[in-house]
Amino acid sequence: MAETNSIANLFDIKDPHIKIEDKVEKKPYKGQIAKVIFGTLSYPFKACPSCGVVNHSTQDMIKHGFVNTTIHLSNIRSQPVLLKLKKQRYHCKHCGATPTVTTSLVDFGCFIAIDNKRYIALELAEEQSMKLISKHLVVSDYTVSCVLKKTGKSLSPHDQSLPEHIGIDEFKSVKSVTESMSCILMDTENGTLMDILRDRKQAAIRDYFMRFSYEARQRVKSITMDMYRPYYQFLKGIFPNAEIIIDRFHLVQHLNCSLNKERVRVMKLIKTSRPTDYRKLKQLWKLILKNREELDFNNYQSHRLFDGLVTEKMIVNYMVSIDDRFEKVYRLINDLKTDIALHNFKHFEKDIEETRKYSLPRQVRTTIQTLQYYLPSIENSLKYTLSNGVLEGTNNKIKNIKRSGYGYRNFDNLRYRILITQKLTVKANKKIRPLLFEEEERAMKDAA
Ligand SMILES: [Zn+2]
Repeated sequence: MAETNSIANLFDIKDPHIKIEDKVEKKPYKGQIAKVIFGTLSYPFKACPSCGVVNHSTQDMIKHGFVNTTIHLSNIRSQPVLLKLKKQRYHCKHCGATPTVTTSLVDFGCFIAIDNKRYIALELAEEQSMKLISKHLVVSDYTVSCVLKKTGKSLSPHDQSLPEHIGIDEFKSVKSVTESMSCILMDTENGTLMDILRDRKQAAIRDYFMRFSYEARQRVKSITMDMYRPYYQFLKGIFPNAEIIIDRFHLVQHLNCSLNKERVRVMKLIKTSRPTDYRKLKQLWKLILKNREELDFNNYQSHRLFDGLVTEKMIVNYMVSIDDRFEKVYRLINDLKTDIALHNFKHFEKDIEETRKYSLPRQVRTTIQTLQYYLPSIENSLKYTLSNGVLEGTNNKIKNIKRSGYGYRNFDNLRYRILITQKLTVKANKKIRPLLFEEEERAMKDAA
């Protein structure tokens, strides 16, 4: 019996009602050669599963042959290991039913061992196509997609608790979604994915959050988002105690966008009159958008568009001097970007206020007005360390998953796969930042 037990041990068959035979055979299986082991599952029913009568003796239930099943236990180097399991069948003398005994090795009516499914789920957490998984693990596409759905569902937020700090961002979704932009929800405090929504329409987001109790929504302390007016109003209604934080990354993006439009305006202006300067503005756009404080002013290098040796700083100074208004806008945008980088809201507010004193191109004025509208929330952006950048890598992951293949025309499948990738393998001990920049800066000073 010792050897029999060692086969059971080897494949982690812990069900005490299964007797494993002392033999291993080989057999073709789905284009591979499978190892086959043999076992019998038998135990007396306590009661008939059909009519519920207690099974006292053979007067109630009698043995009634076996049902032969094959269970895909696991793989050894891509070679499937199958268990040919004979399951005891009974006959109930009271109701005539012929129930078969069951094992915790598999889900009811399924032939893939639960352990094996867990393994498939772990494979789904890696960046690879589902086709490849089914090929490597010698299971059907259907099995992989069942595991995807089941695991994905189990990882969806289903209880009545919400993170205290939620971030809302959007990402380009699958083709079938009419609006093509989907919504990503995250816990901005610990940097984990919360969920993914099919579309970013107000109604969809409201429906999603309204499923949670009022108490749960009341406990939410902050929502981090882009400057997007439709959300701004109604999110306050859904989360009565939450402060709205404008995501710093998006804030800087809006400023850069405005600066870039100004660069393009100047380019058009000088296209025929100053072709060399036009080329400089056209080709060196990255330097224009680079933060003023980060421009290099030490390294003198030759540049094909400039005479003599120049630094980054000199190049930018020259370009912005081409047009007065451009120079003014460059200074303003960079003052604001610096205020954001230094988390200095008082300066930010003051710099915005100052703009009233001079004229600005209309599109820059519009940007400034937008910032004014969101000012209370921008104050939060410079106060709290929370940001939607915690899931920065996620958009790339989503892209890779979509590229990796079939099945994601269906949004639910894409959502399940992303939940599995992000949630199944828990990143251990992720360091949580202090919530306030003030605290963080104090901690850094103390450490120094
Ligand atoms: Zn019965």
